[in-house]
Amino acid sequence: MWNPFRREYVRVVYSSDYIYGLPSVGEHQTFDIMRFKKIRDRLVKERLLTRRNILSPSLCSYDEIRLVHTDIYLKRLQDPHYVSQILRLDAVNMFYNSILEYYRAVTGGTLLATAFALHKNIPTFNLGGGYHHAHPDRAEGFCLLNDVAIAIEKFRSLDRARRYLIIDLDYHQGNGTLLYFQDDEDVFTFSMHADTWVEVDRPHNLDILLPPHCNDAAYMTILKQELPSVFEEFCPDVVFYIAGSDPYEKDAIGDMNLSREGMLERNLFVYRLVRSRDIPLIILAGGGYGKDSWEVYYDFIAYCLKNKR
Ligand SMILES: [Zn+2]
Repeated sequence: MWNPFRREYVRVVYSSDYIYGLPSVGEHQTFDIMRFKKIRDRLVKERLLTRRNILSPSLCSYDEIRLVHTDIYLKRLQDPHYVSQILRLDAVNMFYNSILEYYRAVTGGTLLATAFALHKNIPTFNLGGGYHHAHPDRAEGFCLLNDVAIAIEKFRSLDRARRYLIIDLDYHQGNGTLLYFQDDEDVFTFSMHADTWVEVDRPHNLDILLPPHCNDAAYMTILKQELPSVFEEFCPDVVFYIAGSDPYEKDAIGDMNLSREGMLERNLFVYRLVRSRDIPLIILAGGGYGKDSWEVYYDFIAYCLKNKR
């Protein structure tokens, strides 16, 4: 039987800048600031992750941010009151600049992951990213920069790929990305989520509202029914997968009932669907809250690294 994991080393994008801005935020709003460092450290400890597999990004530039976001919004991001309000901090945070630098670092990571995946056709994970609620002129839902939209704008301006598919399986609808690309026939958004933030009736997306308290079987039935035909109809050149961990039953915000095994099954289903077609794949972490959330993305990356050639 064909095994997509047998013939490729996956790569992981991470840098110490990913935690640089966040210690000042603390454990606010159930966001585990050490989530991605825990994943990296465990992968290293288990000897799954070596230097060969780690790619280190630089901060994305302001010109890259301007590919999607407005100048007025960029100015607002320099205002600590605005940033504190978006992140629901109790007081104005004196390290607001480092918070913006965190988002620039992770967006730089999504850009690096995209460049690598397109150039080498090797699946690349970013230990962060998938800030799908951010709009060109405003932040929403803890998302300051829309890293996926920035990456798509950048790489199509370089003529590196034409048709982009976003598979968004975060617990929350990717409303920012969906609205931004709603009239764009070269970008298709597939989103399965528990709550709908915006209604968009356009041909370039498939938006699925899941029933309450969805379990493994119900979730996988819908995913297997709905996702494969998107590949035949849209024919993507590249896929961004926002592998949100918040449908996990132990998530501190979500109310879905997907087990740890069910989350891995979901992630591997998407991975195999994309890679069996030999399409470049970029994987972003998306949401995930509470102390157990990191396990889900860890399992996914560890599985891919263990099954490498
Ligand atoms: Zn989410």
